[in-house]
Amino acid sequence: MGATRKTEGYLLRLSPFREKDAMALMLSREGFISFLARGTYGNGKSKAAMLPLGLSRYELNVGKGGKYSLKEAESIKTAPYREDLNFLALVSVVSETLSKVSPSVDPERAYKLLEAVLSCLRDGGDPLTLTCMFLARTAKLLGVAPETHACMVCGAKEGITAFSYLEGGYFCKEDAERMNIVPSGLKYLREIEFIHNRDPRKAAGEPLPAADALEHMKELRDYLKDRAGVTVRSLGLLLNG
Ligand SMILES: [Zn+2]
Repeated sequence: MGATRKTEGYLLRLSPFREKDAMALMLSREGFISFLARGTYGNGKSKAAMLPLGLSRYELNVGKGGKYSLKEAESIKTAPYREDLNFLALVSVVSETLSKVSPSVDPERAYKLLEAVLSCLRDGGDPLTLTCMFLARTAKLLGVAPETHACMVCGAKEGITAFSYLEGGYFCKEDAERMNIVPSGLKYLREIEFIHNRDPRKAAGEPLPAADALEHMKELRDYLKDRAGVTVRSLGLLLNG
């Protein structure tokens, strides 16, 4: 028998490949790992381990050129499933986004983010609010987060009156006036603060109003597209639904 590698992590993506096989992408603490899952992966105990965002143990065959194929998989914990369209959409958004950004982010930080999102969901967190928080954290992972701790111009932490994705962050009253940036309103600023700065693990009890969450989601979608070239197609499930 050839060499094998054992690892543990979350399944992000399973795309059909050739007739009966699939290419899988998973996120472990050591990195993103892709492997071939042959047609039989859906049988027996491997089946539950091949559901999106479940935590599983994998044993991979190491082939020629270091390519992996699945030998065996065993589910440790499935994603906290709910029969709710927003929940299902969040699972799609998270798995699509992490798959897309996988070449350019630190896997350890991506792993921590995914664990935080799942932990909040287990605590009954609101999928719409969590989608916004996840997208905001993704901007951070990609190194393009807007400035949400101090005024972009003078660095003041108090007296913030405006936030603009276009301009890249917070502005104090004087600098907003000087630069003709429209004040944002207290409610919007509080929500921006919450989405960008609150730990998702501790956000379960504070859902945003659905209409507000959808507006923030649109802004974050456009921001990620403009700043990082990341298009999250499955956001359409929430925004056009
Ligand atoms: Zn300022």
